[in-house]
Amino acid sequence: MEFPYAEPFKIKSIENIKRSTLVQRKQWIKEAQYNLFNLKSDQIFIDLLTDSGTGSMSDNQWAEIMKGDEAYAGSRSFDLLKTNVQRITGYKYLIPTHQGRAAENVLFSALVKEGDVVPGNSHFDTTKGHIEFRKAKAIDCTIDEASDTSVFHPFKGNIDLNKLEKVFKTYPKENIPMLIMTVTCNTAGGQPVSMKNIRETSELCQSYGIPLFFDGARFAENAYFIKKREDAYKHKTIKDIVLEMFSYGDGMTMSAKKDGLVNMGGFIATNDENIYNKATVFAIMYEGFITYGGMSGRDMGALAIGLDEATEFDYLESRVEQVQYLGRKLMAAGVPVQQPIGGHAIYLDANKFVPTIPRDQYRAQALAVELYIVGGIRAVEIGTILADRDPETGNNRYPDLELVRLAIPRRTYTNNHMDYVAAVIEQVYQTRHEAKTGYEIIYEAPILRHFTVKLRKI
Ligand SMILES: *Cc1c(COP(=O)(O)O)cnc(C)c1O
Repeated sequence: MEFPYAEPFKIKSIENIKRSTLVQRKQWIKEAQYNLFNLKSDQIFIDLLTDSGTGSMSDNQWAEIMKGDEAYAGSRSFDLLKTNVQRITGYKYLIPTHQGRAAENVLFSALVKEGDVVPGNSHFDTTKGHIEFRKAKAIDCTIDEASDTSVFHPFKGNIDLNKLEKVFKTYPKENIPMLIMTVTCNTAGGQPVSMKNIRETSELCQSYGIPLFFDGARFAENAYFIKKREDAYKHKTIKDIVLEMFSYGDGMTMSAKKDGLVNMGGFIATNDENIYNKATVFAIMYEGFITYGGMSGRDMGALAIGLDEATEFDYLESRVEQVQYLGRKLMAAGVPVQQPIGGHAIYLDANKFVPTIPRDQYRAQALAVELYIVGGIRAVEIGTILADRDPETGNNRYPDLELVRLAIPRRTYTNNHMDYVAAVIEQVYQTRHEAKTGYEIIYEAPILRHFTVKLRKI
């Protein structure tokens, strides 16, 4: 007989979370002006706002924290991190940064200039922000299947090579400083990129002389999907798959708050000495000396261990399969979710879930608020509020999809928590026809309004 699945770790330290009543939550969310970012974490039972920096560290990581070497220059913890980054990614040069967007800031300061274009597969929003801030343009070359939630494709993060070649043919080489390959593709819902696509994209980049950089925030989860879905890699270890993935690029930026299994940190790694030299100038200006760059020694030590743990199959299986577990439960109950389920989050399709709420009353936000009121679960709206207004007309931009994202922190909740989340969502789904009205905005910032928006119930 086959025994049930069980996690490859046990719990050494716990953090209590608070239950609350329906009456309390109704009051708290009203005080928060129906913006979930305004809630205090003690007012939340299960926090699925993000998987960024919210995971749990292991005993070995905490042990390394005690051993942290806080020397300004030449710290042992830096050496440990560099050794592990070299072994795991194959990249020789390392610049630590305080988080992922700082790595983007340093690298792009060295490479991206006004008028440039940077092709990629749905750039992450901070990546796009750092490109556009330099008056350059991010060009999305993701395959068309990515935007159709009803078709199954095992690698929806893939780059469309025809779209990419068109970019290479349209713009002069001097205006294409690099291609950015995001693994897994967060913007498309945590969808992976296949090894075949990485290899072919790399070949195309090489034939046009364009450097390929990875946005590696979720590189280990991407490697897990390659192992599970790409036949030739079935028997390879995650570490071998990771090494091969990165061998097709010139370097990477990393948000260590994801697959680094730490609460804060990031880095740039590259094999290109010239790019490394250019980037160190900006690293020193923006982040700190090159052997700490915005991280304390103890945090570099914890990251060194985290990278090793994140590239072990047993860990990745527990992580990704927990997300799939919740996804399967919801699908079995008929709840409309984006498919296939990605590596780090579930996306509820609010257009199908609450079509009775008018779009200009922010139906995805209304659904996210309802999940909080009913079950104390915090998710995040990825819909009209996030999409901001058209800067020219001042009208709301209505994206194709109105989503509510439930991002699962790493090694933090048990499957009992997932059962609870599924039960709450199922109950809200049962009563969805009662939802007729949503919210109106009473205050919003000119850009990135979703963080500070204030709403009123209609
Ligand atoms: C989170 C993330 C970033 C930015 O990293 P921060 O650590 O939040 O600054 C960049 N790219 C991707 C794909 C991410 O998920």
